[in-house]
Amino acid sequence: MTAAGKGPRTRLTHLGRRTHEHAGAVNLPPYRASTILFPTLTELESFDPTHRKVRYGRTGTPSSFAFEEAMADLEGGHAAVSFGSGLQALTTTLLALVKAGDHILVADSCYAPTRIFCRDTLGRMGVETTFYDPQIGAGIAGLIRPATTLVLVESPGSLTFEVQDFPAIAQAAKSAGCRVVADNTWAAGVYFRPLEHGADISIQACTKYVVGHADANLGVAVCRDEDTYLLVKHAAVDLGATASADELYLGLRGLRTLTLRLAQHQETGLALAQWLAGQREVRRVLHPALPGCPGHELWQRDFTGACGLFAVEFDLSLPRPALAAFVDGMALFGMGYSWGGYESLVLPSTPGSRIRTAVPWTGGTLVRFHAGLEDVEDLLQDLDVAFTHLREALTP
Ligand SMILES: *Cc1c(COP(=O)(O)O)cnc(C)c1O
Repeated sequence: MTAAGKGPRTRLTHLGRRTHEHAGAVNLPPYRASTILFPTLTELESFDPTHRKVRYGRTGTPSSFAFEEAMADLEGGHAAVSFGSGLQALTTTLLALVKAGDHILVADSCYAPTRIFCRDTLGRMGVETTFYDPQIGAGIAGLIRPATTLVLVESPGSLTFEVQDFPAIAQAAKSAGCRVVADNTWAAGVYFRPLEHGADISIQACTKYVVGHADANLGVAVCRDEDTYLLVKHAAVDLGATASADELYLGLRGLRTLTLRLAQHQETGLALAQWLAGQREVRRVLHPALPGCPGHELWQRDFTGACGLFAVEFDLSLPRPALAAFVDGMALFGMGYSWGGYESLVLPSTPGSRIRTAVPWTGGTLVRFHAGLEDVEDLLQDLDVAFTHLREALTP
């Protein structure tokens, strides 16, 4: 069946399956392949410079092509390139687009490993990065220099959840001839589509909601047009960046239930955030869908929903024993990195001075939550117990 022209949920159900090509099985089996055999010399010699033909496992297989087709459709792009992790998608894309002498602008609130790559690796190669206030909006024009070639937007920001004025930033960047790259992991390609707001490339850590079960690292860069696709694809081929067949399989499988899972993550996340906002130790809940989150009105304007990831800012900088008492006693919220799986998570997340330079964090202790798919009453009970532990630890 062709899914073209159908609704988004229909497309996510049908894209990339190619059922008739593999015995009628509903799911495309993972193509585990390095060597590809060519029946004739003529076929061996026929090379597709756009890398859309299977030639060698590392440069593309039916698994990667199917996943990329589905992700390009989800994000409304022209073509996509898959990667072994979200960070690899980001770093390969940046390497594809910059050269020595360039200056780039990166949101101060970006995913910390993205910042470290820009600062250290790109810095070593003669690319200068300025980290900008995520709430700068059209004011970004004032930071653009003759050497500026790229603006990276991540909205909302990792850890602190500022929603950025994406259209204003993209417009200023475009009129200065800069490329715009988005890290769209939070919205998962469902609640925000950066390519419709001026981005050239939308990147996702599919590790999070697309895979959705905390069992694979996977990334994607969805490109606006053929020229951009070729730049990113050639960089991926040059660097040997690739995603494994099993991870791609899990990504494709996750896509089938993505919107359904996100709707529940959203509902549970909002219920938890509202409950947390009512606790006396909490100064603010940084949830883009709630007033009080920086850029909330931009979220209302540009986004169609919220995922299950948000943070709580405490009234004060919690002493370490109190923070430990709060997080150590939780039974249902696991403590660990990443998010987007079916399970709830908690993570102390106050940004240190090394990962925030344009707008240093001066508020209270931040704790990030991921709302999983458990029963919300059970999650609230877990939080209630955690607050009891916190209050005991704060009582002299
Ligand atoms: C997790 C994450 C990444 C990196 O994804 P990996 O698959 O872990 O490399 C990039 N950006 C954001 C916003 C993330 O949350």
